[in-house]
Amino acid sequence: MALTVELNTPITGPYTQPIGLFINNEWVEGVDKKKFEVINPATEEVITSVCEGTEKDVDLAVAAARKAFNTTWRAISPGERSRLILKLADLAEKNAELLAAVESLDNGKSITLARGDVGAVIGCIRYYGGWADKIEGKTLDIAPDMFNYTRPEPIGVCGQIIPWNFPLLMLAWKIGPALATGNTIVMKSAEQTPLSALVFAGLVKEAGFPPGVFNLISGFGKTAGAAISAHMDIDKVAFTGSTIVGRSIMKAAAASNLKKVTLELGGKSPNIVFNDADIEQAISWVNFGIYYNHGQTCCAGTRIFVQEGIYDKFLEAFKERAQKNKVGDPFHHETFQGPQVSQLQFDRIMGYIQSGKEEGAKVEIGGERHGDKGYFIKPTVFSNVTPDMKIMREEIFGPVAAIAKFKDEEEVIRMGNDSNYGLAAAVHTRDLNTAIRVSNALQAGTVWVNCYNLLHHQMPFGGYKESGIGRELGEAALANYTQNKSVAIRLGGALF
Ligand code: ADP
Repeated sequence: MALTVELNTPITGPYTQPIGLFINNEWVEGVDKKKFEVINPATEEVITSVCEGTEKDVDLAVAAARKAFNTTWRAISPGERSRLILKLADLAEKNAELLAAVESLDNGKSITLARGDVGAVIGCIRYYGGWADKIEGKTLDIAPDMFNYTRPEPIGVCGQIIPWNFPLLMLAWKIGPALATGNTIVMKSAEQTPLSALVFAGLVKEAGFPPGVFNLISGFGKTAGAAISAHMDIDKVAFTGSTIVGRSIMKAAAASNLKKVTLELGGKSPNIVFNDADIEQAISWVNFGIYYNHGQTCCAGTRIFVQEGIYDKFLEAFKERAQKNKVGDPFHHETFQGPQVSQLQFDRIMGYIQSGKEEGAKVEIGGERHGDKGYFIKPTVFSNVTPDMKIMREEIFGPVAAIAKFKDEEEVIRMGNDSNYGLAAAVHTRDLNTAIRVSNALQAGTVWVNCYNLLHHQMPFGGYKESGIGRELGEAALANYTQNKSVAIRLGGALF
């Protein structure tokens, strides 16, 4: 079976797309020789089919990753690890336009956003390349006749399960710290968006990583994903996705070999606008907070709380702004919002819109599909949303904003924290004291002040409450991929 197909994107023209599984630096078709279709969400047409990995392929990938961990990868110095990771960043940069185009094609995000993602991918990988030879332990002064030190060691074979909303960026967030700290990887991409990760895997090989250090399986959650979380020879699983799947991964980890678990899960983030905010700026950031990536962002600012003094003015201006977001062909350079990723997601979001209508919220704009082909949904604004409504409590993962009014700081802190989630939040105000007080009071892993969605690889990202366990990015992520060994050396004689 051919393990590549010739595809085309409007930006790059023809290119060769790998479709195999990437195990031990080889492209293979998978033990069961199964394939699944990849859909273009903008046209609902099949782009191609890719090989599907199942439990048996996960076993082969884990064996390759284990062998590399015990032999070649362990034998390489941290400086050489750094050089390989930096080379991978360079190759991603060289192929940036292709990676962005494939991302747009498969995920439906606009080419402008995809280019932004790829820039962040390069930055993230390069950043962790810089860390590889700067991971240090401590010496501990315990007693004159002892010499004690800690040694951060890699965890081993890491399973990494990523979602479809930022296929390449989530790959980068996961492989960067894992490789820098000397682990090996079995990654599963999301079944909706396998293409860009496959192109990226080719770059891993080109960079010269030893076989087995990075393995990539395209496949489904219930089969390949579940096989990773339950595997007896995977030492750690890192997952980004829905809270419900996060729970099942943690259960499987506990029931198998108690592998370490880090989770980056859902959110229902509050975006708070005070009377004294720069209203023009606030509208722009609130718009970006909810509609960026078509609302398919775990940290999306979905619950918008506006203080009563500016509520009416804000609502009118916000509606006007949201209607200007250009929805359409992901490859058009002016497009801001492309289609939702799949029919399933489209149906879920339309279900939430219906529930908002039934529960008595007011549709200010949108609330329906855009066009008649592709999974496009018009930017939607609900007002009169109360705390008990589903659209205020549950993660919608679409271009649907819920707006409510608040009176004062105390009330909005209560409203903002009234959620099982705690991924992100934002405050818009000109008063520094308000900004700091409210940021401190909000139960969220990231708080933005007078901005939104400005993530950076130097800044840790992760959730309070049911939004997750552990932190990705920054120095903090290194802790997810290392375990400390304490070494105690006795300098004196016997005690007894
Ligand atoms: P969504 O509902 O947005 O598709 P999911 O949390 O279902 O998000 O998917 C995120 C990732 O988790 C995907 O790679 C998916 O295949 C995987 N996944 C889904 N179910 C499971 C499972 N039971 N075990 C492991 N991985 C899973």
